[in-house]
Amino acid sequence: MPGLIVFPFAQRPIGRDSRARIPVRPLAPRIAPAAVRIPDPRHVQVEIPFPAGSPRIFVHEGARQLLERKLSQAALKPAILSVTDNCRSMISFAERGGVLRARLHHMFLDAPSSVKDALVRFIASSTRGRRDRDASDVVGRYIDDCSHRIRAARPFLRPLHTQGQSHDLLALYNALNKKYFGGTVDSLITWGRVGARRGETRRTLKLGSYSATERLIRVHPLLDRGWVPRYFVSYVVYHEMLHHVIPAEASGSRRILHPKQFLVREQLFRDYERALAWERTHIHRLLRARA
Ligand SMILES: [Zn+2]
Repeated sequence: MPGLIVFPFAQRPIGRDSRARIPVRPLAPRIAPAAVRIPDPRHVQVEIPFPAGSPRIFVHEGARQLLERKLSQAALKPAILSVTDNCRSMISFAERGGVLRARLHHMFLDAPSSVKDALVRFIASSTRGRRDRDASDVVGRYIDDCSHRIRAARPFLRPLHTQGQSHDLLALYNALNKKYFGGTVDSLITWGRVGARRGETRRTLKLGSYSATERLIRVHPLLDRGWVPRYFVSYVVYHEMLHHVIPAEASGSRRILHPKQFLVREQLFRDYERALAWERTHIHRLLRARA
């Protein structure tokens, strides 16, 4: 589980000049999404009644038909496209009675046209028994880049607690989502639970954590203090939101939790330097504080 762990006088692994060298990849299309998930009712302040058993996503029918037509043209046969919100199978297709039936994750409805072209090439070539490798690579990379749009494999069902005594996590999260992610992040967020530890002084402290299987950000309840500035809580939330959108990278047998893209993006946070400076001067107070 990736998390933000601070140590007194932590050394950041990357220099300030890295921002200039590494291009920041766009995380999400700037256009309105072609499929939206019904928001988790625990994160919606307005009561919206959704009937039980209703579809969990709304799909833009025009976008679905467009992709269905492309598929049919590439496969040279009628195609029926269903759009899913699966968490494991992103693409599946089969041919029955001269009709191509495909089930695709909704991320493909918003895909750039180069990815859509590769997708239909990949499916059409596979149905002919000659899988197009290049097309498959393009599609695979797109799925990796969109991993934050796949729903939780193990949903977190307990109530979420976002309104603290001093800080409202959901308000911070919503503002960050709008400012840095175009509103596309749909992870959950909650204050973590107070640990049982008493009496002893902490040596390290996990200020925030992100669970990919639950799509859940937890923030340490110690930060819910009047003397902890809003921009610092925001920084912790922003850091965990980055874990949601930038998966860990494999490097041999190691997993890099904070790959270059992550570190570059982290520095885009408006109060980045200020937050690190606050952390350096207050870490001992945090370590001594009682939750
Ligand atoms: Zn981290």
